[in-house]
Amino acid sequence: MEWNTAELVALDKAHSWHPFTQMRDWCAPEHEPLMLVGGRGALLRDSEGREYIDGNSSIWTNLHGHNHPRINAALREQIDRVAHTSFLGFSNPPATLLAAELTRLWPPGSLERVFFSDDGSTAVEVAIKLAVQYWQLLGNPDRQLFIAFSAAYHGDTMGASSLGGVAAFHERFSGYHFPVHRVGSMADLEALGSDVVSRAAAVIIEPIIQGVAGVRLWPEGMLAGLRAWCDRHGVLLIADEVMTGFGRTGEMFACQKENVIPDFVALAKGLTGGYLPLAATLIRPRIFDAFLGRYDEFKTFFYGHSYTGNQLSCAAALANLQIFREEQTLACLQPKIRLMTELLDRLRGERHVAEIRQCGFIAGIELRRDGISPFDWREQTGARVCLEARRYGLITRPIGDVIVLMPPYCISEGQLEQAVEALASATRILA
Ligand SMILES: *Cc1c(COP(=O)(O)O)cnc(C)c1O
Repeated sequence: MEWNTAELVALDKAHSWHPFTQMRDWCAPEHEPLMLVGGRGALLRDSEGREYIDGNSSIWTNLHGHNHPRINAALREQIDRVAHTSFLGFSNPPATLLAAELTRLWPPGSLERVFFSDDGSTAVEVAIKLAVQYWQLLGNPDRQLFIAFSAAYHGDTMGASSLGGVAAFHERFSGYHFPVHRVGSMADLEALGSDVVSRAAAVIIEPIIQGVAGVRLWPEGMLAGLRAWCDRHGVLLIADEVMTGFGRTGEMFACQKENVIPDFVALAKGLTGGYLPLAATLIRPRIFDAFLGRYDEFKTFFYGHSYTGNQLSCAAALANLQIFREEQTLACLQPKIRLMTELLDRLRGERHVAEIRQCGFIAGIELRRDGISPFDWREQTGARVCLEARRYGLITRPIGDVIVLMPPYCISEGQLEQAVEALASATRILA
């Protein structure tokens, strides 16, 4: 297929509004947006026929590569049956089977219920609303305060962004956010007075590693400590595994690294292997049970979206989980994680590389001038380096001056080396 890149770009600049983007810069004549038209494995192709390594797995969603035959086939089979039917008042096989399979990824009896929604933000939104209603149903409506961590990111809808701690994204809307008590560490949490703790509905955390905060790892043992704290104080624990879920940290779920079972788990990004929007909130039985009653007791959870339990998305997610089993994805990933560590080690010699943080197949490369002082944020150093990396065949996005490398698990050893080399070359444009 031949694409008219110039025409497409003109239409895009005239009518599209891109997320997290200063559209004046985007629409400027000198900005040449890539029109991505194809993909295979860890590679993406643009409308001009150029190929790139998908260095951030299309914003942290893709797992097994683009155009995976198993997921493609599952979608073709499903689309010939039906694409979407309502989960409100009806059920369907892909959603039913997927819910059962998701619960089986956790110890028996622990996270037995699945509530589907559409993306990471809504998976968090569902957990928040369930937590609030749970305490109301238990006759403890004063427990309505949420505890969240500094620099946390839980999504952009009003509810999920209430929990977020990245000032640049959320501060403007602070007047519209519900009350959140913010802590920076376990020490902060331990120091909270009973006035706060007794009003706490739930704590929410990105387990093991914060993504949007700049790829930052929590101290070892912190998550297990948090679970113990929640148990001691009768506070619910929400694990936002939207980024970490489905193998990103080297385990199926980050919580497994510290043998923690949360009360809610939010899943999205990788759930469909990076194919379609779908999210799931996993829930403990005791929370589910609190919502059971006669219709006129009004214990029902009144929440849902038009596309809840979408059949195509659920079929993709089932195929995603099947690939984990068939291809032994987690086992095959371990040597690649070690290779990534070795390759990233080479970057330590680069002049402006200050720190390299890695957890599983997630890496953040922090740039500072001569490795010491932060660049002026106005210089958009991270963005410039990522733009330069394109010339070496790598697509990724920075978080400030932290370059994220988070490729699909199917990336070959050669491609991984090429990706790291591209980053090394790209940092050399910095004076
Ligand atoms: C991406 C992300 C979200 C939001 O997910 P969307 O699908 O973008 O709404 C929430 N939490 C974490 C940890 C994320 O990385």
